[in-house]
Amino acid sequence: MDSQAFYRRSIDDPEGFWGDQAKLIEWRRPPEKVLDYAHPPFRQWFVGGETNLCHNAVDRHLAARGEQPALIYLSSETGEERTYTYAELHREVNRCAAVLRALGVGKGERVVIYMPMIAEAVFCMLACARLGAVHSVVFGGFAAHNLALRIDDAKPCLLICADAGMRGGKPVPYKHLVDEAMREAKHAPPKVLIVDRGLDADMKWVDGRDEDYWDLRDEHRDAEVPVTWLEANEPSYILYTSGTTGKPKGVQRDVGGYAVALAASMRYIYGAQPGETMFTTSDIGWVVGHSYIVYGPLIHGMATIVYEGLPIKPDAGIWWKIVQDHKVSTMFSSPTAIRVLKKQDPAWLKKYDVSSLRYLFIAGEPLDEPTSRWITDGLGVPVIDHYWQTETGWAMLTLLPGVEMKPVKFGSPGFPAYGFDIRVVNEMTGAECGPNEKGVLTVKPPLPPGCLTTVWGDDQRFINSYFGQFEKELLYSSSDWALRDDDGYFFILGRTDDVINTAGHRLGTREIEEALQAHAAIAEVAVVGVQDELKGQVPIGFCTVKDPARIADATARALLEKECIAKVAELLGAVAKPYKLHFVNALPKTRSGKLLRRSIQALAEGRETGDLSTLDDPNALEEIRKAVKK
Ligand code: AMP
Repeated sequence: MDSQAFYRRSIDDPEGFWGDQAKLIEWRRPPEKVLDYAHPPFRQWFVGGETNLCHNAVDRHLAARGEQPALIYLSSETGEERTYTYAELHREVNRCAAVLRALGVGKGERVVIYMPMIAEAVFCMLACARLGAVHSVVFGGFAAHNLALRIDDAKPCLLICADAGMRGGKPVPYKHLVDEAMREAKHAPPKVLIVDRGLDADMKWVDGRDEDYWDLRDEHRDAEVPVTWLEANEPSYILYTSGTTGKPKGVQRDVGGYAVALAASMRYIYGAQPGETMFTTSDIGWVVGHSYIVYGPLIHGMATIVYEGLPIKPDAGIWWKIVQDHKVSTMFSSPTAIRVLKKQDPAWLKKYDVSSLRYLFIAGEPLDEPTSRWITDGLGVPVIDHYWQTETGWAMLTLLPGVEMKPVKFGSPGFPAYGFDIRVVNEMTGAECGPNEKGVLTVKPPLPPGCLTTVWGDDQRFINSYFGQFEKELLYSSSDWALRDDDGYFFILGRTDDVINTAGHRLGTREIEEALQAHAAIAEVAVVGVQDELKGQVPIGFCTVKDPARIADATARALLEKECIAKVAELLGAVAKPYKLHFVNALPKTRSGKLLRRSIQALAEGRETGDLSTLDDPNALEEIRKAVKK
């Protein structure tokens, strides 16, 4: 099929196009109307249709694929390997749904899931979907304060956690962080359900609040829990992501549109077939995990691999061994992970038979050309970079091997995906840019199915954050710089806002600044993202202190730096730790008092600062220049 014609139809006739795609999933009641766009920028897809994500991911396959593997759990940390067929997955999800129901979870209730990469985490997500409850998975690497913020926003009736995760052969206890978050949160749920893996012998149970998953699962061994049918636009989940303020945004997703978008993407973008195996190396705490570890492959009738472990333990061949052993056809990973592998012996790429692999997809951050070439040549498999965001739930820019495979251009995530009317526009005027002209990547609404429907509990924030940038026209702003070349290939050139992308994880500079300010010695702080060979970007902080004695000499500075970094780890988790803190006497600001973050970032990356006509105190900038040179 001609991919250009396919794309054009999705833009020119969205109702016809998506009406056809709706047939890829099962509906209890078919939609009455494909698109309702009466209240821009809000839109509703598949209005009046009734369906359920768990039904489409599990029950629907029982007849044809009951004995086929659905979920393959592999942990190189504990050595566990378990395969669940669709019939077994169905049993586990029913048990889990019965447990949740007994703990008061019902339609529309929120459940926060704070878990490592274990099969039970997936059962819990699917059980929530089955009950019509709204899950909010919080990445297991986040610390107590981050968890508390999310609890207070989602106001869950239940929190589910494990005793511990495992990383690099060591248990990483979770439960004490949960206890801390429960103490900090104003809307702490009455119950905590714990999947005890036996990894944390010191774990304390709170009487009357904490429940043991294994005990309750036994009680509900034979339970059957009917699917709760939901109108297509009811919420399925909330996933928090960092924005430009200190308060994370709850990206809210629907049921019908999301299911249809994922089903379509499995065909057209991933070119995958039911019965095959998908291996996505992300984490269920991120959007990639939601869409392509859990819902996408299962909706498509594939087996999905849930892998707990690092890419280089026990050795740098582990991923390719998994591909060989499980005949993985479709793999999805991140640039940082590939750069980690690039530091290892390239012979690992050749040690196992990866001939089952059709494509390796990459997303999350820019994939630099050398890394892309290295992995393409090493594996002998096409590597497809595709670009998307937590907000969109699936790719906005990609190649479409399931429709027509266009040549890969290194460094480019391809073309606009069907359904996304993408424009690169001038930052100030909103006028469309010509070829090779840098502008902001935007989408002319309505956003296609699968994208966020709003910000949880805050419609105004949805409008302001995403649609408020241009006066000329209503446009969704991705907050990414981009350009389109003469051949129509797109290139992503970094964020337009104060968000850092470190190892594919989005961090708000405001969040890190607030955490640093929580240290009593700190007066003012600016955090910027600085280019890093391995992780794409890393956070670097510049601080002023209340008492100069704290930075009187090198030893005092080093001690304070350590304390401050520990504070960030304590409040936000290790992912957000600044790489380096510089202590200065003043931060560069405009005369109106706004921090000149862009200039600080430029200096920190060894670039020049550009226009500084509004700078209040030139010495402040000089100090930054000196600090980063040291
Ligand atoms: P997140 O919502 O955390 O997945 O982060 C989304 C952001 O990651 C985007 O706005 C981009 O800045 C960046 N990103 C994701 N995929 C790509 C890609 N393929 N190339 C370049 N940047 C990407």
